[in-house]
Amino acid sequence: MSRTFYVNGEFVAEENAKISVLDRGFLFGDAVYEVSTILKGRLIDNTAHLKRLARSLAELAMAPPCSDEEIVAAQLKLVEMNNLDEGLLYLQVSRGVADRDFAYPANAKSSLVMFTQAKNLLDSPMATQGMHIISIPDQRWKRRDIKTVGLLAPCMGKQAAVDAGVHDAWMLEDGLVTEGTSNNAYIVTHDKKIQTRHLGHEILSGITRQAVLKFAKQAGYTVVEEPFTIDEAREASEAFITSASTFVMPVVNIDGVVLGDGKPGPVSTELRKIYIQTALEHQDL
Ligand code: PMP
Repeated sequence: MSRTFYVNGEFVAEENAKISVLDRGFLFGDAVYEVSTILKGRLIDNTAHLKRLARSLAELAMAPPCSDEEIVAAQLKLVEMNNLDEGLLYLQVSRGVADRDFAYPANAKSSLVMFTQAKNLLDSPMATQGMHIISIPDQRWKRRDIKTVGLLAPCMGKQAAVDAGVHDAWMLEDGLVTEGTSNNAYIVTHDKKIQTRHLGHEILSGITRQAVLKFAKQAGYTVVEEPFTIDEAREASEAFITSASTFVMPVVNIDGVVLGDGKPGPVSTELRKIYIQTALEHQDL
C-alpha cells in the first residue's frame, strides 16, 4: 500500500505529492526541516521539535506555514493514515514559490510538506554492537544551528563513511569535533564525565541532546559542555551519538581505533535505556 504524504493542506498519494520547480527549497535550499520520532504510534518530544522549527524559521525571517496546532493536527492525521507504529515523521517548510531571485520574495507563501518512514528504532542491532565511525573535515556553512535542508556536506560525509566501510563520520573543525553528520557527538572520560560540544552556531542544538543531558544529570553524571579533540575521543572510555532516530547509540571504533573492549560501554547503554523508557512513558521529554 502506498504512503500518504502531506502537501500544503492536502493528504495525497505519493505519486501526487508534488511541488513547483520554482519552490525556493528546490532552487536555493531555502527551507528548514524537522524529524520527529514515532514510538507506539505517538510522536516523541514533538513540542521541542516544533519549538526548534519556529527558531529556524525566525532566524531566516521565514513565515510559519500555519499554527503549531494545525501542524500537530496534520502530523497526527498523517501518522494515523499511514498506520505508523514506529518510525519517523519528516516535516519541511520552504519559503515557497517565487520567480528565481536571491533576495527573499515579498509575497511568497511558505510551503509545508510531510511524510512518514516506517523504521525499527527500538530493536537496533547497532545498539548492541556499537558504531564504527571515521573523522572527516567539517565542510558545512557557518550557521549549523539553523536546521536547513542544505545537507550536501553531510551527504558527502555519510558517503565517505560508506566508502570506508563504517557507519558514520564525525566532523572536525580547528582540530575539534563539531558533531556527527546527522547527530550530536559525545565522549565519556575515564573519570566518567560526559563531554559534548557546547551549543553555538557550530552545531545543531539536538532535541535528543537536550533530553539526554537532562537524564544524565538526573542519573548523577557530571556533564561537561566543551569541545574535544579526535585524539581525546580515540582515548576516551566510551563514545556515543544522539539523534531523534538513533536515541543514544554507542560508538566503539573511531578511525580504526577500538574504544575500551570494543563493546558498547555502560554509560551509553544506561543512557539509551533511560531515554527509551522515558520516551515510551512520556511524550514530551
Ligand atoms: N546534529 C545534526 C547535524 C543533525 O542533523 C541532527 C539530526 N537532525 C542532530 C544533530 C540531532 O538532532 P535531534 O536530536 O534533534 O535529532
